Amino acid sequence: MTNPSLRTDSMAAFSASARTLVSRHIAPHLTDWEMNAGATRGLFALAGRAGVFGVPVPVRDGGLGLGLAHGVAFIRAVSRYAAGGVCASLCVQTHVAVPLLLGQGSAEQKRTWLRPMVSGSMITAVAITEPTGGSDLVNSTTTRAVPTAEGWLLDGEKTFITNAPLADFLLVLARTDDGAGALGMTFFLVPADLPGVQVHQLETTGLRSSRTGRVRFTRCPLPADAVLGRPGLAMVQLAQVLVEERLAISAGVLECARCCVERTAALPAVAGSHRARAELAGWLVEVEAAEAFLDAAVERFDNGKGDRLDADLAKTMSARLTQRIVNGCARLIGPDAFIGSGAEGGLLPTLRDVRVLSVFGGSCETVRDSAAAEILRGAAARRRADVLAPTGGRPV
Ligand SMILES: Cc1cc2nc3c(=O)[nH]c(=O)nc-3n(C[C@H](O)[C@H](O)[C@H](O)COP(=O)(O)OP(=O)(O)OC[C@H]3O[C@@H](n4cnc5c(N)ncnc54)[C@H](O)[C@@H]3O)c2cc1C
Repeated sequence: MTNPSLRTDSMAAFSASARTLVSRHIAPHLTDWEMNAGATRGLFALAGRAGVFGVPVPVRDGGLGLGLAHGVAFIRAVSRYAAGGVCASLCVQTHVAVPLLLGQGSAEQKRTWLRPMVSGSMITAVAITEPTGGSDLVNSTTTRAVPTAEGWLLDGEKTFITNAPLADFLLVLARTDDGAGALGMTFFLVPADLPGVQVHQLETTGLRSSRTGRVRFTRCPLPADAVLGRPGLAMVQLAQVLVEERLAISAGVLECARCCVERTAALPAVAGSHRARAELAGWLVEVEAAEAFLDAAVERFDNGKGDRLDADLAKTMSARLTQRIVNGCARLIGPDAFIGSGAEGGLLPTLRDVRVLSVFGGSCETVRDSAAAEILRGAAARRRADVLAPTGGRPV
């Protein structure tokens, strides 16, 4: 990758470059992508050239070597344009596939897959969810890989897979040991042009600028080195990247809520109403509070102290808050919110996109329950004690 446009010294300069990149090169295509079955490979080529996929990747591996705070700055720049689908497509590659390869890939796998992924010449999908379910993976995963003399044979079906219709390769979750529960699951690197791989693009209600697909694997022969890391460790690997993914999604979602409030407040009919202005002010305060929590969580992540509780709290809070705010804005705007492509000031793409927040990146109920379980195990109390300890304070 040469001269990525996002390589800058300070966060302010990075954010400004990200906003320029999005307004000049992504925003002009959004209506077309929303109306015509999703973004093209050009989006990935552009993002790769700019350095988006390499934000967390060390410079020696072709990246920018920056933290999640920079990744979040880019997502916020995209989210200002009601471009949930673009965010979803780029997030899957930047904040799930890249960290999985970076953390778990062998030197050879990084050479073959990570570098082209960072440059944007290769597109990735992460195939976990199945027609049988996506929340309780240990019990619902039926895709299987069985060992053969040459490597593995993969059979199964995945659905709702972001980027699948464009993907050059997929990271596929498969069961490799029936008796080992969570430790019987393995990620495989599967080229999309392998015999036995069939991809079908799905028509979606929201995130229309992203391409979503169903993928069938029929007796796909995989070499032994198609395993990511070691067999049996997929659920551990997934838990590690889920933190980054959920924080990144939450950042985009909250920015979307903020923009919705700002756009609604600017409409003359709304600006003239006391009651409407009071509602908008209340929502803005809630967004600000949620963003303060998110920024602190991202800072903890970049300092090596990111944890599942942060990610689950951020996802739970941002998804439900944004759905409430976007619906509320639509109510204040009235019928005009429901017409047009969004370019005219309507909320249609955003209204479609926020529905999917109930399940994208983990269903709201399961993420909430995971956060509650962590709190009950004492994670939140331990963190408060940690924060208070350096100054000699005591948790009350
Ligand atoms: C546009 C889009 C893009 C997606 N992209 C990807 C992708 O790239 N890769 C991928 O692998 N997946 C992807 N998904 C799938 C997504 O991750 C799953 O939808 C999500 O994990 C939930 O799984 P499920 O839909 O199978 O719901 P299920 O697990 O079948 O659950 C259905 C509903 O039941 C409820 N529920 C389930 N368990 C509980 C519980 N214990 N307590 C209370 N309620 C519960 C929840 O409300 C849940 O929404 C995508 C989905 C969409 C819509």
